Amino acid sequence: PMAQVQPPSDAVVLFDGTDLSNWLARGKGGKVLEPRWKVENGYMEIVPGTGDLYSKEKFGNAQFHIEWAAPAKVEGHGQLRGNSGVLIMNRYEIQVLDSWDNPTYADGMAGAIYGQWPPLAAPVRKPGEWQTYDIVFEAPRFDDGKLVKPPYVTVFYNGVLVHHRQEIIGPMAHRIVAPFRPHGPEEPLGFQDHDYPVRFRNVWVRRLKDYD
Ligand code: MG
Repeated sequence: PMAQVQPPSDAVVLFDGTDLSNWLARGKGGKVLEPRWKVENGYMEIVPGTGDLYSKEKFGNAQFHIEWAAPAKVEGHGQLRGNSGVLIMNRYEIQVLDSWDNPTYADGMAGAIYGQWPPLAAPVRKPGEWQTYDIVFEAPRFDDGKLVKPPYVTVFYNGVLVHHRQEIIGPMAHRIVAPFRPHGPEEPLGFQDHDYPVRFRNVWVRRLKDYD
């Protein structure tokens, strides 16, 4: 298997392969639950229907390192195959999908800013293989309930640049551009339970200063 990138000394390690103590789960109606995703062999695996996971710790400007693998057993087509998502600030989605030999709409592919921007390249690995996202995120700013600076994101997918300081135009939504709603300067990192047993491992974050 591919060697894991070791967390640097200034990283906040959110998942080191052993337990979900840094995470909570979102139940129906936003109810806060203990996470029930499976942890084994150094990864966590989505147990469909148990809810999105999100970190107890919150982050604003940050670098995120995430490794994920779509289910080795190939089932379904398009968005109905290995769908999950990295939810920055619990709302801005970098799509996770089994995009190997699996056509779908461009801004729904693995590495897309879901519903907004397709990835600039598709360095996709096979289902069951570990893949990496390295994300540099600039948090939005709100003043008096109004957006004064949008979020920007840079994403490397398996080491390949797929978004270069791309402006995010709203929170994750399906087939609409949803309006920004004010939120805190720091919010949790989330993983989407979209009913597929996608795996995650080696999740860490580095806090970054303001850019301006
Ligand atoms: Mg998704």
